[in-house]
Amino acid sequence: MTHTCESCGLAIDSGAYCQYCVDDQGILQDFETRFARMVQWALRENSALTRAQAEADTLAYMAQMPAWARHPRVRAAMVSADHGT
Ligand SMILES: [Zn+2]
Repeated sequence: MTHTCESCGLAIDSGAYCQYCVDDQGILQDFETRFARMVQWALRENSALTRAQAEADTLAYMAQMPAWARHPRVRAAMVSADHGT
């Protein structure tokens, strides 16, 4: 079974989080830091994305991550997304 980072889903060997999701103390970075970096990554990967799309995609992705699924910002985004359907 593949072991993955609980924050971003990256495959890792051990521990709860990958090296990118923690600070130099080994503590999980805060939501704003992770969110900003993941949005930047999405924009780099797909230059056709708008920032708004990248932010929406990132929130949807984080909603599936154990580290962030219950974060207020993620929950709020998922609730507002449901209103559109
Ligand atoms: Zn990670």
